[in-house]
Amino acid sequence: MSDNRIDWNSIESKWIKRWEEQKLFQADPDGRKKYFVTVAYPYPNSPQHIGHGRTYTLADAHARYMRMKGYNVLFPMGFHYTGTPILGMSRRVAAGDAELMDTFRKIYKLSDDIISTFVEPVKIASYFHNEIKMGMKEMGYSIDWRREFTTIDRMYSKFIAWQFRTLRKKGLIVQGSHPVGWCPRDQNPVSQHDTMDDVEPDFNEYTVVKFRSGDDLVIPAATLRPETIFGVTNMWVNPHVEYVQAAVDGEKWLVSKEAVRKLEFLNHKVEVIKSVKGKEMIGKSATNPLNNVAVPIYPASFVEADSGTGVVMSVPAHAPYDYQALEDLKADKKTLQEFGISVSATPIVIIESEGYYSGVPAAEAIKQVGASSRSDEEKLERATSDLYSHEFYKGKMMQNTGRYAGMSVSVAKNEVKQEVMQAGHADIMYELVNKPVRCRCGTECVVKLLNDQWFLNYGDKEWKTLAHECASRMDIVPQDIRQEFDHVIDWLRERACARKSGLGTKLPWDQEWIIESLSDSVIYMAYYVIAKYVNSKTISDENITDSFFDYVLLGVGNAEQVAKESKVPLSTVEQVRKEFSYFYPVDSRHSGRDLVPNHLTFFIFNHAAIFGRENWPQQIVVNGSVLMEGKKMSKSLGNIIPLRAAIKENGADMIRLAMLVSAEILQDADFSFDTIRGIRSKLLRIFEMAEKCADKKKQAAEMQQLEDRWLASRLQRTIAETSASMDRLRTREAIHHILYSLDQDLQWYLRRAAAKGQENIAMLAEFLDVQVRMLAPFAPFTAEEVWERMGNRQQLITAAGWPEAREDRIDLVAEESEFLISSLLVDLQNIVKVTKITPSKIAIYTSAGWKAQVYKTILASILEGKTNFGEIMKQLIANPETAKAKTEPKLVQKMMEDILSAPLEARNRRLKLAGFHEVAAIQDAASLLSAEINKAQIVVYSEEDASRYDPKAKAKSARPFKPAVYME
Ligand SMILES: [Zn+2]
Repeated sequence: MSDNRIDWNSIESKWIKRWEEQKLFQADPDGRKKYFVTVAYPYPNSPQHIGHGRTYTLADAHARYMRMKGYNVLFPMGFHYTGTPILGMSRRVAAGDAELMDTFRKIYKLSDDIISTFVEPVKIASYFHNEIKMGMKEMGYSIDWRREFTTIDRMYSKFIAWQFRTLRKKGLIVQGSHPVGWCPRDQNPVSQHDTMDDVEPDFNEYTVVKFRSGDDLVIPAATLRPETIFGVTNMWVNPHVEYVQAAVDGEKWLVSKEAVRKLEFLNHKVEVIKSVKGKEMIGKSATNPLNNVAVPIYPASFVEADSGTGVVMSVPAHAPYDYQALEDLKADKKTLQEFGISVSATPIVIIESEGYYSGVPAAEAIKQVGASSRSDEEKLERATSDLYSHEFYKGKMMQNTGRYAGMSVSVAKNEVKQEVMQAGHADIMYELVNKPVRCRCGTECVVKLLNDQWFLNYGDKEWKTLAHECASRMDIVPQDIRQEFDHVIDWLRERACARKSGLGTKLPWDQEWIIESLSDSVIYMAYYVIAKYVNSKTISDENITDSFFDYVLLGVGNAEQVAKESKVPLSTVEQVRKEFSYFYPVDSRHSGRDLVPNHLTFFIFNHAAIFGRENWPQQIVVNGSVLMEGKKMSKSLGNIIPLRAAIKENGADMIRLAMLVSAEILQDADFSFDTIRGIRSKLLRIFEMAEKCADKKKQAAEMQQLEDRWLASRLQRTIAETSASMDRLRTREAIHHILYSLDQDLQWYLRRAAAKGQENIAMLAEFLDVQVRMLAPFAPFTAEEVWERMGNRQQLITAAGWPEAREDRIDLVAEESEFLISSLLVDLQNIVKVTKITPSKIAIYTSAGWKAQVYKTILASILEGKTNFGEIMKQLIANPETAKAKTEPKLVQKMMEDILSAPLEARNRRLKLAGFHEVAAIQDAASLLSAEINKAQIVVYSEEDASRYDPKAKAKSARPFKPAVYME
């Protein structure tokens, strides 16, 4: 069928309309088991592109699958307006930002009329909200749109205010000073949603050790390993960098200019006194505050001004970078001469770790990775992290570390830090690990110590314990990502939960603050129940107070009183409560992998804090991202394709399948137009089949033929396998079963049937019925259309149900027959190829009955794991029925090889097989064998047939499942 006979877009609009008319996706409580699927709601500051589509498509396929399995599935959608990005965007529009205008015009194809309205933030949100919604409909997402909302709706704000008061009552919201990612321009904390490329500002805590030079100059060095202070042999200063002397909290510090700014954001009082050239410091010395040893200051052009303080302490015995730098410097006569210094420093080993490292650990670590100079960044990085974790877990402090001697490194690390901090020899500094992080306004972010900020106290021990319990009761798909959640739950600390600007809900007790976007999006799945009543105007937000939410979401309080207070009819209050109790908990939460360290973990924390165990979420599903033709999608590569344009061009089903077939869940999916083309031709074949089977379903099914029985059996197996794949959301595997394995089976069936000149339309109709039902979650438009064209006019496929594998249709004899025939066909073709005979007659000999007994005995032994030839022979001889094997050791040997090289599935089948006759199976396929091999005459004999035609005495070499062949 040629592509232009199918108008994909009009099929799409036909079924979108039909689904809407039949209210197929509107879920209300009923007698069925419910299944509540949610996916992280979109942030409407751009249209959806191919990259966004994967998570939603996966969630939709999941929802559709569960619906077909008979569940009452609720799959709702909201829109997340909260935060600063939309605000920032409207400012950039007002300022005529060229890059943004370019994106709007060239990628999103927006007209200037529309763009000009974007100076108003809500206009941006509502425009893209509508775009995204249209795209979701066109993709065929089975969403209950009655429950749609935005996060700036008045009722939603009341819900979020309730959430926050509830958390505060539980003591989980605190006010204080904590480090946060910060945009200096917006004067606002930033998190993933606020940054370009959606990166979460991630920072490390450094100990800044105050070395001293002369009487009063502090030379501060930031380190992640305070326990190594004892091993410092020298300091590194970059001779080409501008440093300053500055008064820092009353002390005189030498730091880079860049460090001054960082210290200010950390609330230090800093006043620059004078500037100092790095090279002026070379050759001077600095005193270690822990042991009063003076160490020299050496030149190091690798020291970056904006890293830490711009001064580095050197621990060559335990830091591969320092070791290598020292070696390089020793060899660098020119530099030594330039500064008039010589290198006297030698590594001081202060940590011993069992077994692994001896001598100078850093030197060994370098040797292991094969680095040879300071510029081997990658290798040195590996050496550093190897050595760091080895010493952290296995290392012990040595005798030369005073009172720390014998202490494990993991303990000493904190003890040393405490000592130097308390003695005033050190300070704390934070540094972005993944810098530069840019705010969406374009400004580079910093770490700020924020005072009087409101924090969600994710560091609270009891809360962490609850969150761990919640996660451990939950199903995580895929399983391998579970420990990532445990890890995040452990390391999360206080998190700033409010901003001074942006869209969203005001902090109820401090109206200067607006609740930020990763804090007002953690339990909103519960709000979908309420949204339906708000949208239908059954409930007005006007008089709603916390008692309403307490009652409907927590079951706390008295319905009559709530009804009176909120001016909502009592029956409605009860109904909302009932509906919530029906749909909650969330059965499956879908999201991209990038949201594991924030949103998904906050979702766990907040559910654990607010709801009882019976309403904790049941499952989290995490998927990887999407590549475009093997490349990351980015504006600069120009490979961002808006979803709606792609649907118009390629058809929604093609895109859905291409997204879900190219990778298993956690891997990056590679979206490619080749895949799209391949899929389209597969779907066209299905349309062709439908034409063939149209309205012939009711024809009496005669399933007597071997190939019919075989195809029916294969169908049952594929149903079972596909269901198992879908139960774990292994969509790649599932689609392969449905589109590729089934297609292979069909092709074989058609070859067999064509050779016999009889095609069983009823069988084909049954096949297609099963195939399109299983296809429906992935390609719902094609499935509905084909289903209808097959003559099913009473019921949509969405309502028709997922096929069930029928044990009684499994047919081992038919499976073995077709397996035998197809391998025999390949063998014959090979013989023809090798011998170059053009046969006019082919005689096929099946093995004698006693050999079958021998085969079964060997097979049973091998399946029990016994593969010793001598023992097998002994066993055969002991039984009179198989004793004849004694005279044919070679045959036994060959049978063993046959069995060992047969697929496991075939081995298991053959053990259970009863009533299988090779002669009958091959005779059944004689027409096919002849048709495919030179129209030769096919004759089949048993080895035991005395009248057989066997001029070359080939029959005696026949083995079970391995017939012998003679050609002439
Ligand atoms: Zn900013």
